Amino acid sequence: MSVFSHPDFDAHEQVSFRLDRASGLRGIIAVHNTRLGRALGGCRMWPYASDAEALTDVLRLSRGMTYKAALAGLPQGGGKSVIIGDPRHDKTPALIRAMGRFVNSLGGTYVVAEDSGTNVEDMRLMATETRFVGGLADDRAVAAGRTGDPSPATARGVFVGIQAAVRAALGREDLKGVRVAVQGVGNVGFRLARLLANAGASLWVSDLYQPAVERCVAELAAVAVPMEAIYGLDVDVFSPCALGAVLNDRSIPQLKARVVAGAANNQLARPKHDHALMDRGILYAPDYVVNAGGIIDIYYEGPGYSESVVRQHLERIGFTLGEIFEHARREHRPTGEVADRMAEAIFRA
Ligand code: NAD
Repeated sequence: MSVFSHPDFDAHEQVSFRLDRASGLRGIIAVHNTRLGRALGGCRMWPYASDAEALTDVLRLSRGMTYKAALAGLPQGGGKSVIIGDPRHDKTPALIRAMGRFVNSLGGTYVVAEDSGTNVEDMRLMATETRFVGGLADDRAVAAGRTGDPSPATARGVFVGIQAAVRAALGREDLKGVRVAVQGVGNVGFRLARLLANAGASLWVSDLYQPAVERCVAELAAVAVPMEAIYGLDVDVFSPCALGAVLNDRSIPQLKARVVAGAANNQLARPKHDHALMDRGILYAPDYVVNAGGIIDIYYEGPGYSESVVRQHLERIGFTLGEIFEHARREHRPTGEVADRMAEAIFRA
């Protein structure tokens, strides 16, 4: 397994590995870039098939966090961590605490937050070992109904992103009657679907987990769609809120939507799919711009938290997208590429 010559290494500042025999922890922390500030990023726990797969995932995710923070206008860098293991079977308090000590050993270069396979409880436990935990709700926040879960802010940011993309692609100022297909109605997807329904959009939803679909049908008058059928629907917006790499050689030719905007990370299977979307006349709202609501919320979490300040910052996602769409249109370049160049101009300045 190579590190410095890994295809996704991309000049990472630091990659650290930790084996803790007592707890069984096998973890990796990747710090991509700290030019704008401490590297912030979630800790993913996943039963990776190999160490190499875990390394690839952490490198790609941490790089994405640098770009996300830069275009979200946050004074922080990009990093990510992974724990190799099945969160349902392998997670123990000792393992999570060992991860907390691992985070602490980097002395604040990396600030951890929750991600797939870890949750607010895990972050609380890590916080007994390190102060470098982001987005933890304190007692006042809990009393105000916040848990530290970034999903509501992520969903709000995606909603703002869809509004901006619909304005640019369809010339529509509101979402009344706009047809949206949401793939994955979990923590973010369900909240997004509810915001869309409240704004008058019509919904089609798919999910591996049938009860999640049924909830959307019952509460939001959504139409349930078989998993594979979600790509080819006659809708205005396709919103991927489940997995990465869903924009690929197989799915793009099926799309009838004019807009793609959703919460999932790393939606483009390969960079060429950015071009493929443009060639088909589909406006792609770059994933890390649209789904930045979570890190924006984490940034503000703390004693001075103000919902209206967070809301205002989330609205900026729409302005940033407007700028990206405008550059892409004028220069006839794909939106993902335009976003990358804008982010690099910020974090390399
Ligand atoms: P989640 O696990 O709560 O929801 C994902 C949902 O997708 C689940 O209900 C799952 O059953 C479903 N799903 C999985 N595979 C599917 C498939 N092939 N087709 C349809 N549905 C499928 O996760 P989440 O927190 O809602 O996050 C959703 C996506 O957004 C993830 O890619 C995540 O990395 C990204 N994201 C989340 C946040 C956040 O604040 N939670 C922030 C930024 C990005």
